[in-house]
Amino acid sequence: MPGVFIDVELSGEAAGDPELAQKLSDACPVDIFAATDGGTEIVEKNLDECILCGLCVEAAPAGAVEVQKLYDGTSLKR
Ligand code: SF4
Repeated sequence: MPGVFIDVELSGEAAGDPELAQKLSDACPVDIFAATDGGTEIVEKNLDECILCGLCVEAAPAGAVEVQKLYDGTSLKR
């Protein structure tokens, strides 16, 4: 089930990068990113656990990750 309060968007290129997948998996304290051979999978059931720490945004190239706050329409990105 997707998040009610949070959604995470990955750019297509970033989503298919196994190295970035591992970085995101290591960075997120609440396990929203799962690293697979094909890249990153978003663990939807954990989305609302996001603490808005921004570590995923910092771990990824600019423009690759956007954490959307569905409750106010703003987002974390760079
Ligand atoms: S902002 Fe922090 S808690 Fe939220 S998805 Fe990114 S790394 Fe995980």
